[in-house]
This record gives sequence, C-alpha cells and structure tokens, in this order.
Amino acid sequence: CGIFGVVGVSDAANFVALGLHALQHRGQEAGGIVTHDAEAGFNSARRFGYVRDNFTSQSVMETLPGPLAIGHVRYSTAGSKGQTAIRDVQPFFGEFSMGGAAIAHNGNITNANALRRELIERGSIFQSSSDSECIIHLMARSMGRSIPDRMEEALRKVEGAFSVVAMTRTKLIGVRDPLGVRPLVLGKLGDGWVLSSETCALDIIGAEFIREIEAGEMVVINDEGVQSHFPFRRAKSRFCIFEHVYFSRPDSILGGRSVYESRRQIGVELAKEAPVDADLVCPVPDSGTPAAIGFSQESGIPFALGITRNQYMGRTFIEPTEQIRNMGVRLKLNVNRGLIRGKRVILVDDSVVRGTTSRKIKEMILDAGAAEVHFRIASPPTAWPCFYGVDTPQREKLLAATMSEEEMRAHLEVDSLKFISLDGLYRAVGQANGRDADSPQYCDACFSGDYPVRPVDMLEQGFEM
Ligand code: 5GP
Ligand code: SF4
Ligand code: MG
Repeated sequence: CGIFGVVGVSDAANFVALGLHALQHRGQEAGGIVTHDAEAGFNSARRFGYVRDNFTSQSVMETLPGPLAIGHVRYSTAGSKGQTAIRDVQPFFGEFSMGGAAIAHNGNITNANALRRELIERGSIFQSSSDSECIIHLMARSMGRSIPDRMEEALRKVEGAFSVVAMTRTKLIGVRDPLGVRPLVLGKLGDGWVLSSETCALDIIGAEFIREIEAGEMVVINDEGVQSHFPFRRAKSRFCIFEHVYFSRPDSILGGRSVYESRRQIGVELAKEAPVDADLVCPVPDSGTPAAIGFSQESGIPFALGITRNQYMGRTFIEPTEQIRNMGVRLKLNVNRGLIRGKRVILVDDSVVRGTTSRKIKEMILDAGAAEVHFRIASPPTAWPCFYGVDTPQREKLLAATMSEEEMRAHLEVDSLKFISLDGLYRAVGQANGRDADSPQYCDACFSGDYPVRPVDMLEQGFEM
C-alpha cells in the first residue's frame, strides 16, 4: 500500500490526492483521504479504483477541507484475500475521549488474528476485516492521555511490518516499525510538512525531501515543528530488499540510493554471474527495464524493446484473483514480431513467482519466431511467501518452493534460466561485501526463508518455516 500525509498548508487534501496518485503503483484497488478543518471537523472519502478517477472532481475535493490530511492507496495482502469491501478501505478513524484520530497503514501485522480474537473477547466491535483496524481498538483500550501516547502503546503490542501515517485535529504523526520493513519519508512543503511512502510523491507536489523516518521512530508534527522519539526496543533495521527490486518506483530514493540505479546494477551483476551468447536483451516491461539496461551495458549485447506494454492496464501483480491474473498477461503485453524473428533473445524480468507470466511470455516470443529464449531474473528464486505487506501466494504456488533452477527451466521450456544470487542482489543495492549471513542488512525472507519477525498468525494456521 501507499501512505501520504500533509500538515500546515491550505487545502491539504489536494496535495494528498496528488501524492497518492504518485504512489498508485503501491496499490490500485482503492483509496481514501481523511481531512480535518477547524470549522468542518473531520471529513473522509473512501472509494474503489484509481486516485485520478475519484479524487480529482471538485464535488469530492470540496468535501475535504482543511490544512491537515492523510491518505492511503490499497492493495490487499495475505490475511485479506478476495474482493475488497469499502469498509476495508483506509484511512480508519476512531473517536477517543481526547478527540478523533485517523490512521493509514502500510505493511502487515503478523499477530493480527491473535490480537483481534483478544480484542473481540474484551468487547471491541470490528468494522472491517483489515489487520490494520487492530491499531484503532488497541488505542481505544489504552489509558494514555494523548493520542500519540495511545498510538505508541498500541503499536508496542503489534508485531510485523508497519509504516503508519496518522492525524489528530492538530497533529500529523508518522511511525515505522522497529525493523523499518516498509518505507516512510519526511518532506517540507512551504511552511508545512509531508509524510510519504516514497520520495517520488514528494517530487510531484514540489516538496523538499528532508530525511527518512528511521526504523523504530515516531514523529509528531504540528505548528511548532517535528518532534521525534523512539518508543520501541531498538533493533537493527531490516528494510524490505524487494522494494529495491520491484515495489518502489524507479525515480524514488531508498536509503540514499536511487532505485533505478540499484535495478540497473542488478542487471550488471546478472550479466557477470550468468552471461550468455545472444543477439538481443529485452526487458519484460516495465519492471524488468532498468535491469535489462544494466545487463545490456555490461554484456555489450544490444538492448531492444521486444515487448510492448499497454500502459492502461494495471500491474498484473495487483489484480486480486488468479483468473484475472492469467488473462492479464496477453491483454497487457505484446511482442514486436519483426524485431524478434530469428533472434536469440535474453528476457530480463524482476521476479518469477507462480511462473505463469514467464510461461506466457516465452510462448509469445517463440510464436514470433525467436531462435532461442534465455530468462535472466533480477531477484533470487521466490521460494517463501511474504507476510510483511507484499502479496505473494501460498508457498505451494511458488514455483521455486518445489523446483530447482533446472526444474524451473524445464517447466518454462526455455533455453536457459538464471536468477541473480542473494549476494549479487545485496551488492547491487550497495552492500559491497554482499549479505552478512550473521546479521543480514535487509529483510529477504521471500528469497531466504529467514523471517525477521515470527509470523505467528501463519504458524498458527500451519505454515512451516
Ligand atoms: P508470475 O507469473 O511468475 O506469478 O509473476 C511474476 C511476474 O509478475 C513478475 O514479473 C512480477 O512483476 C509480477 N508478479 C505477479 N504477481 C506477483 C506477486 O504476487 N509477487 C511478486 N513478487 N511479483 C508478482
Ligand atoms: Fe520484502 Fe520479501 Fe521481506 Fe516481504 S519477505 S518484506 S517482499 S523482502
Ligand atoms: Mg513483471
């Protein structure tokens, strides 16, 4: 998901709408905005679909007045399969004795089922099926005397990955979980302040990037400025390495590093680790493009756009059901036949998950008359599900969970298939000595099975680590 908040500028909701539009790649199912205004109080709008179709009309935006606003774009992960209901669309809102508060959450709470059971037993009435709603109920039960205090107490009971943007009547609040799994950055906009999942959204509203919110940090922002503290037990950060590979936009900066440059460097590493004699390097658009550029630069094999993507389709990744996903590939991608005929083609893609995309693309490339097809993948084999906010299917459906690299190659019926090594990936994102096996610098659980937070709900449901 994507989260965004603004305080201290007039008509904050307009900036939030633009920010969410720049974060649309993080979630396309639905979006919501909550605002506060001294006269109008709290207001909200929650809608299915794209930000541009919901939060641009005057009739909607004039219902969202005030200098303080937060927003959320949603895609559903693990716990919440199937169709999103409007009641699951964030931000969530709660009334407390000291006033109202709204929160928007990116990530996944790994003990949400356990917390929900306990809260329901003690009288909480849940409105949604979302794991994020636990935070509101935990806040309601807290004896803290201010909303930030209650939020702090609530979040100490929550396990897993969370970046949160929240607001009271006067304050904008930002939090990252102790491992800082999901991103969150701070920006300055005139006299006001901005919180955003990614820096690309600061750029489009003309805000200045100030710094990242740190792992385990909580910032409370009001007219007087930004107050920072660290309410959780300090831990070494484990940022999601897959944000560098796929999830974030290539024009964003993560941990001081250009996402585009990391992806290009992945291609360079891949060309060194798994060279192959061929005529063309083609990206599977758009997610494979920077890595394909790096592969071409390092290998000297010409880069070509052998596949064209229809820009008006969503990301297949985001489509909630497998049936739609299966249809999606052909609706979305088409081969440039004249270019491919008779050629030995290297296809560069970001990841192989179920393998359905790769299989269809290979068929399309062979139909177009390619002489050979070689897959080069910009991440290690995805052998484990993510429980921290990225939608991966159950372990059984992951190709790499049951097959070796050679078995996957045979299954996909391609001439060769190579994945970047985990160390190669770490080098590409700026860790010159690769992965520190004793204390990894990132979360890489979907590749390594090394889960930095025990997924207690999933273990209870029979998941085996
Ligand atoms: P597959 O068809 O192998 O399941 O999907 C792999 C491709 O689709 C990748 O190129 C990636 O861009 C995208 N994708 C589709 N679904 C997912 C998913 O659930 N997780 C990840 N990591 N990538 C996905
Ligand atoms: Fe990111 Fe993978 Fe960790 Fe999920 S399991 S947070 S996708 S690195
Ligand atoms: Mg892709």
